[in-house]
Amino acid sequence: MDLADDPGQARLRRDLRAWLAEHLTGEWRAGYQAGDEGQRIALLRQWQRALHQAGFAARSWPGAYGGRDGRLIEELIIFEELARADAPPDVFRIGVRIIGPMLMQLAREDQKADFLPGMANGDLLWSQGFSEPSAGSDLASLTTRADRSNRGFRINGQKVWNTLGQHADYCLLLARTDPRAVPHKGLTAFAVKLNSPGIRINPLRQINGRRDFNEIFLDDVEVPEDSVVGEVNGGWAVAMTMLGFERRGVAVMGFACGRLFGRLLDLAGSVRLRETGAPAIDHPPLRDRLAALGVQARIAVLNNYRFAAMVPEGGVPGPEGSIQKLHSTELNKAMHDFAFEIMKGADLNESAARDLFDFWGEEYVTSIGMTIAGGTAQIQRTTIGERALGLPR
Ligand SMILES: Cc1cc2nc3c(=O)[nH]c(=O)nc-3n(C[C@H](O)[C@H](O)[C@H](O)COP(=O)(O)OP(=O)(O)OC[C@H]3O[C@@H](n4cnc5c(N)ncnc54)[C@H](O)[C@@H]3O)c2cc1C
Repeated sequence: MDLADDPGQARLRRDLRAWLAEHLTGEWRAGYQAGDEGQRIALLRQWQRALHQAGFAARSWPGAYGGRDGRLIEELIIFEELARADAPPDVFRIGVRIIGPMLMQLAREDQKADFLPGMANGDLLWSQGFSEPSAGSDLASLTTRADRSNRGFRINGQKVWNTLGQHADYCLLLARTDPRAVPHKGLTAFAVKLNSPGIRINPLRQINGRRDFNEIFLDDVEVPEDSVVGEVNGGWAVAMTMLGFERRGVAVMGFACGRLFGRLLDLAGSVRLRETGAPAIDHPPLRDRLAALGVQARIAVLNNYRFAAMVPEGGVPGPEGSIQKLHSTELNKAMHDFAFEIMKGADLNESAARDLFDFWGEEYVTSIGMTIAGGTAQIQRTTIGERALGLPR
């Protein structure tokens, strides 16, 4: 494939860079940093609105659903430029990158019209309710029940690791509707309003102080029949389609690895080693590893474009998404590990050490989580072995 931008793509890159220079100002960043959790989410909703108005959100979606009828490659160019500019966290990623593309494949027309434009333009924040305390990798074993009721279904159970649910408007929730069927055939997907009576959301505080995830307790939650997404007892198809998009969505982290490499170079160039007194970047073994990480970071960026080119426009990503997800998340973690290795050997006074730790520490913890989200690295290896390489089960 030709990796050079064509004139339209080059224009898109230029336009986005100019837009970011104008909108992602020091003042914006300072306001964001100073905000509490609620203020930050409000700012991120505004940010999504602004991106959408400028044509940089959900660009590959059909115009009728809030998109710009663009090509997937344009979306990747946008992600690459946003990562390069260290753009704010994308809290709409679960809707725009995972749930929205699934809805386009499997939802009814009225659901597409109701949900997609709001996802794209920052009005509707979505979350994903798959995992449970005893159902993560083995998702088909989930026990949250949805039983028939007068109005539709009554849901009871518990979800966990639900990202951003405490701020979200909706949750795409998987529940068991046929307990007699084999596990993956008795599941149904629902679009559940998170302010429904009977829902309690309990944010979980992480080691880095953030509250990215929630437990969700569902106690006789009534949902209408038309909240079913896909077929009743057809939830597995919804889940698998979403996981395909999720892996590609997480793999966009490959672009962040490109930016992270620049930070590693800065770090290695700016600290001196205790042992030699010389800058870390001049130490041959560290330099070798830095070069190897730089090569991998470039591969992660190119893989995003390569795999996008392999999936037909509007298609569902296959096992190639697992290759990309595994590579980019493990690389991201390895780069953070390496930053800590440099810091460990560096001659730092206490305040410099604290500044560096503040900077790298929080993302270090997140880098471990990303190897788990959307299916663990072990599960990705199994998928690659069985579905991409055709190895025996
Ligand atoms: C950052 C982040 C965001 C998340 N966001 C959401 C969300 O929004 N919504 C949601 O529903 N869930 C979310 N999750 C949960 C995520 O999907 C699960 O954590 C993941 O699927 C693993 O499940 P588990 O944690 O129960 O671990 P387990 O499945 O219990 O796995 C434990 C260990 O055993 C290994 N293992 C399990 N089965 C196998 C196997 N067959 N072969 C080899 N090894 C195996 C795993 O690789 C892992 O190392 C998120 C997780 C993270 C880290």
